[in-house]
Amino acid sequence: MALIKKLSSIPLYVQILIGMIAGIIIGLVALQLDGTLFIKHWVQPWGQLFIRLLQLIAIPLVFISLVKGITGLKDISKVSKIGGKTIGIYIITTLVAILLGLAMGLIIQPGKLIDRNEVVHLQKSYQETVQEKKQVAEQTKEQGPLAFLNDIVPNNIIAASTDNSKMLQVIFFAIFFGIATLAVPSQHTKPVISLFDSLNDIILKMVDYIISFAPWGVTALMAGLIIDFGGNTSIFSALAVYALTVIAALLILLLFFYPLLIHLFSKVSPGKFIRSMYPVQLFAFTTSSSAATLPVTLKTVENKLGVPEDISSFVLPVGVTINMDGTSCYQTIAILFIAQVLGINLSFSQLVVIVAMTVLSSIGTPGIPGGSYVILAMVLTSVGIPAEGLALILGIDRPLDMLRTSVNVTGDAAVCTILNRQQN
Ligand code: ASP
Repeated sequence: MALIKKLSSIPLYVQILIGMIAGIIIGLVALQLDGTLFIKHWVQPWGQLFIRLLQLIAIPLVFISLVKGITGLKDISKVSKIGGKTIGIYIITTLVAILLGLAMGLIIQPGKLIDRNEVVHLQKSYQETVQEKKQVAEQTKEQGPLAFLNDIVPNNIIAASTDNSKMLQVIFFAIFFGIATLAVPSQHTKPVISLFDSLNDIILKMVDYIISFAPWGVTALMAGLIIDFGGNTSIFSALAVYALTVIAALLILLLFFYPLLIHLFSKVSPGKFIRSMYPVQLFAFTTSSSAATLPVTLKTVENKLGVPEDISSFVLPVGVTINMDGTSCYQTIAILFIAQVLGINLSFSQLVVIVAMTVLSSIGTPGIPGGSYVILAMVLTSVGIPAEGLALILGIDRPLDMLRTSVNVTGDAAVCTILNRQQN
C-alpha cells in the first residue's frame, strides 16, 4: 500500500518511463526463462486492456469535444469577420504541420532501422489485423473515385458509433450536429449546450483515469513487444531516430515556419515574436498542457504583441481547442513509425486518410498532457495499424509532449497576431 502511494507521487511521465523499462526487463527475463506463454496469457492482456480503454473513450471524446468546440463558436456573430478566417488559417497551419511530419517520416523512415528479419516475427503476431487491412485496401481499389464519400457520410449514426474504424463518420455527424445547433436560436439550445459542457468535463475526467493507468499498460505492452521481437534490440536505435525526427520537425515549425508567417503576414518582427513567446513556450513546455497555458498566452499576445482583447479572447480559446500543429505533426510521424516497425506498407489512399483524420481529430484532442494518446489509438485503428504499437512510443513520449505543446501554443499565438494585422 505504502509502495503504491509512493509510486503515485512520482510524476506520471516518470512512471510511464519506469513502466517501459520494467516491461523491457520483464520481457527479456521471460525470454531467458522460456516464459513466453506466461507473458502472453498473464501480462499482455493488461496492456490490451489499456488499449481497449483508450479506444473505448475515443468516440465519446471526439463527438462531445467536437460538438462543444463548434457550439462554442457562437461568438462568431460577435467577431463574424474573423470567425471564418480564424478557422481557415488554423486548418492551413495544421495541414502544413502534418505534411511536414509526413515528409520527414517518409524520408527518414525511422521505423525501417529495425532488423528486417525481426519484422517477420512481428508481422506474424499481428498477421490478422494486417490481413484485414489488406482486404480493405483491395476492396477500396475496386471502388470508384468518389467511394470515399461513403466512408465519411454514415447512413446510420448508431451503427457508425459501434465501429472504431468509422471515426470519420462520427466526426461528420458531430460537425453537422454542431452546425445545426448553432443555427437554432440560442434560447432553445441552451440546455443542450450546457449538457455538452458537463459531458465534456466528465469525459476528460475519464481520460484522466485512463491515462493514469498508462504506466501499467505500458509495462505489459512493452513486455509483450519484447517477446514478439524475440529480444531484438535494434528497436532502441530506431526509437532514438524516431524521437530525433519528431524533435527536428517540431523545431522547423518553431524556428522557421512561424517566424516566416509572422514576417510575411503581420506587422510584428519575427525577432520580437520569438522573444515575446519565450515565456509562453517555457510554460507550455513545463506543463505539457496548452489548455493550462492559455492564460499566459492571452496575456502575452495582448501585452507584448499588441493584439486587442476582442480578437485574442476569441481566437486563442478556439485555437486551444481546434489548432494543434505540434501534436498533428508528431502524430503523423508516430503513425508512420509504428507502421514501419510493424512492416506495414501504407498505400497512398491510406496516407490521405491519415492526413484527413489527423486534421479533423486534432480538433478533438484535449489540451492536456498526453491528450493525443486517445486520438492516436483511434487513427491507428482506423487505418488498420494495430494500436498495440503505441507501446513503442509512449515510454519516451513526455519530452516530445513538452515540445509539441510549445509548438501548439506558438501556432495559436502566431495565427492570432496575423489575424490582428488583417483586421487593421
Ligand atoms: N499535451 C498536448 C497539449 O496540451 C496535447 C498532446 O499532444 O498530447 O497541447
